[in-house]
Amino acid sequence: MDKKTALVTGAGRGIGRQIAISLAKAGYYTILNYAHSAAAAEEALKEIKDAGGDGETMQFDVADFKAVEQAAGDIIGRLGKLDVLVNNAGITKDTLLMAMKEEDFDAVISTNLKGTFNTMRHFCRYMIKNKGGRIINISSISGIIGNAGQANYSASKAGVIGLTRAAAKELGGKGVTVNAIAPGYIQTEMTEVLSDKVKEGILSTVPLKRAGEVDDIANTVLFLASDEAGYITGQVIEVNGGMH
Ligand code: NAP
Repeated sequence: MDKKTALVTGAGRGIGRQIAISLAKAGYYTILNYAHSAAAAEEALKEIKDAGGDGETMQFDVADFKAVEQAAGDIIGRLGKLDVLVNNAGITKDTLLMAMKEEDFDAVISTNLKGTFNTMRHFCRYMIKNKGGRIINISSISGIIGNAGQANYSASKAGVIGLTRAAAKELGGKGVTVNAIAPGYIQTEMTEVLSDKVKEGILSTVPLKRAGEVDDIANTVLFLASDEAGYITGQVIEVNGGMH
């Protein structure tokens, strides 16, 4: 594979879809992971190919350690390397702490935090072998300031920041940078479920007076993946219109 390669988890919908499309348009052979949204992932790949880019879709559940190990072996076996890993897959199961079910806490931690660990764990050895790579983890403002009703989600996204900072120290000497992006309020299906009242409340705290768009995050990923960002590691880039 002469082209640079990138894997985006949860790339069928929302922010991940735009990240995958932007990386592919920038010349990366892009692997679009999905868990359930096969049709959406295929559509995103079609958009990439129609624009002259290249890539493939790949189904696996990021929370499944063995499935991720298998996917990593398959990708490296066929393509020889992975240059950029974007950990975007994420879920919410919001409710107040007092009422939060054990399974809803576990599910959010498994996908958001352990899922990020799983891909980093299985791909970092190949990045080290290749003497370079970029790992970009999508955290959240919720993991920095904490949000009422999101104890599980805030904990998972704060965990992603700890994971990012520790891995940056371990992998820096091997030429691998590890950074996180903490989006604020971005318009996707994840935030579409919020009531109009909650949306208005969030927007009133955004100095730039608009919700973020998927491109705002994809552009930050493009920068962190670029040669120009080669001296940035262990950082959390907040893309939130000034909310924090
Ligand atoms: P979204 O529209 O709900 O999309 C979530 C994506 O994650 C889907 O593509 C989904 O794929 C994938 N996913 C979920 N569980 C998965 C699993 N076990 N394995 C593989 N993929 C899985 O959400 P979004 O708004 O684009 O969010 C993307 C990321 O940004 C998340 O990490 C989220 O926490 C973070 N974020 C979002 C906002 C926001 O305001 N939207 C703010 C801060 C941070 P399937 O459909 O195939 O399951």
